[in-house]
Amino acid sequence: MSQPLDLIRPTVLGPIFLIALLMVHTRLYQRWYPIVCPYGASLFGIGVVVLAVIAATQGVSLIGSVVLAMIYNYLMLGLAFRPALTASLLVLVSYPVIATLAGMPAPQRLVDVGVLLFTNAIGAIVCYSLERANRTNFLESQLLMETARRDGLTGIANRRTFDEHVDRLWAQAAREGRPLTLLMIDIDHFKAYNDRFGHQAGDECLRRVAWSLSSHARRPLDIAARYGGEEFAMVLYDSSRQHAEDMARQIQAGIESLAITHGASPISSKRLTVSIGIACVQPMSDRSHYGFIQLADEALYAAKERGRDCIVIMDKEYSDLTTGSFRKKAAAEAGVTH
Ligand code: GH3
Ligand code: MG
Ligand code: MG
Repeated sequence: MSQPLDLIRPTVLGPIFLIALLMVHTRLYQRWYPIVCPYGASLFGIGVVVLAVIAATQGVSLIGSVVLAMIYNYLMLGLAFRPALTASLLVLVSYPVIATLAGMPAPQRLVDVGVLLFTNAIGAIVCYSLERANRTNFLESQLLMETARRDGLTGIANRRTFDEHVDRLWAQAAREGRPLTLLMIDIDHFKAYNDRFGHQAGDECLRRVAWSLSSHARRPLDIAARYGGEEFAMVLYDSSRQHAEDMARQIQAGIESLAITHGASPISSKRLTVSIGIACVQPMSDRSHYGFIQLADEALYAAKERGRDCIVIMDKEYSDLTTGSFRKKAAAEAGVTH
């Protein structure tokens, strides 16, 4: 083939190829690829157009290469629809311009442009459909993940999310030497509420309580979740005993302000109330968080025992307990507040 062609291949297309090859091996690949690739693709495409036009003037048809460059733009380079379309349109527009400048006969120009127009239309349709399908898949998977993380009835975090979160926080608190607080919140006499007002009303009540609770977990590492049935849990990172107690009081006040009438409750206010058990501990990496949850459970149990609508805090050291359970010592030293 002629000299110009032999010159263009290594000088224009060669470096673009080399840069592309180098890029996939660098650490900046993820960051730079989407920025550099559309320019590279356009340049490469125009280079191929120049080659094809020169070849055409010498009686050789290389229009297939231009078609291939367009297909690459749309389908092989991983470009989003818009940059792929821009790069391909540049190639499409450059062909008749360069062909006219090179003096290519009009009928041949027309045929070639027709081929490129057709390729461009097909490529654009396929690329757009693929991108749309990808976006839909992504959104659906996000939605699925979100659904798996939330409780179906109340919409707040579910038990699984809570367990995973506590697991992570436990390790973090142990590493950073920060205390961890767990509040177990249980609605008082809820069975009686259901029996009196029906399950639907019970469900609505759970939803309102859940939203009231979640409005208190505002810091980034805090979380409120439905632990099961009419029981909720909240974990507070790096919170003092005083803060935990204040939070429990705010939670009780929040539930009270919902003013949910509970005529079947033996509690004098005849309003829906909650009992709260709190465990405040200093996590250690050689202990699991199960004892922590058990301690909060114990505190909740103690609150129920003491008449409900109250707060029990257990925050004693557990490092000297050999069983890994917080139970015996802590329960004996529990503090109760009404
Ligand atoms: P206590 O004060 O000791 O906690 O008494 P309680 O009646 O709240 O506790 P108990 O464990 O006896 O009953 C829990 C009730 O919670 C029974 C169950 O019907 C109700 N419950 C659990 N999950 C749901 C739910 O998703 N919707 C409704 N409406 N009720 C639920
Ligand atoms: Mg209950
Ligand atoms: Mg319960």
